[in-house]
Amino acid sequence: MQLLKDRIRKDGKIKEGNVLKVDSFLNHQMDVKLFQEIGKEFKRRFEGEEITKILTIEASGIGIACVAAEVFDVPVVFAKKTQTKNIAGDVYTTKVESFTHGRVYDIIVSREFLGKGDKVLLIDDFLANGKALEGLAELVKKSGAELVGAGVVIEKGFQVGGDIIRSKGIHLESLAIVESMDEKTGEVVFRN
Ligand code: 5GP
Repeated sequence: MQLLKDRIRKDGKIKEGNVLKVDSFLNHQMDVKLFQEIGKEFKRRFEGEEITKILTIEASGIGIACVAAEVFDVPVVFAKKTQTKNIAGDVYTTKVESFTHGRVYDIIVSREFLGKGDKVLLIDDFLANGKALEGLAELVKKSGAELVGAGVVIEKGFQVGGDIIRSKGIHLESLAIVESMDEKTGEVVFRN
């Protein structure tokens, strides 16, 4: 998606530890006009697929998922992160290792909002090592819903997540795939 790649080149900041900061338009301040274009692009890429629900993970996936959900005309559910030891009650749960914080935490979704009959599209802002998407896919599996695919805004193609998700046979659409990025020069190279 050219608009997105141009914006990453213009406003993205490369930090140590393979972190791309896009706080000025995606992760902190949010450019909702851009989000609308992102939503339309996801809709185009999943054209012809029946989708009844979008599932994302708090916090940074929520804004994008909500704008995309308007285009798809479906509800959004976001998985909550929790550090509660004894998770009880009517929830699906799994563990996720955070790329940015290096911690393992539980993610939960209420059984009330996901289940058999749902056809689910996963949405997230970044794909790095694939743990967040794997966790979301696991919740979908536990719920008995059908996983239609996954849409991410920025895939860091030099990390393993994309290969892991694709090798599971999940239909993955990444709107910008960063092939490499150089902290010193600030250069970002995209995959065609
Ligand atoms: P994964 O689970 O694929 O390793 O990492 C994906 C999650 O980590 C995303 O939900 C995102 O919030 C965060 N993340 C991973 N890499 C980056 C990055 O380079 N920049 C930002 N801002 N977030 C990232």
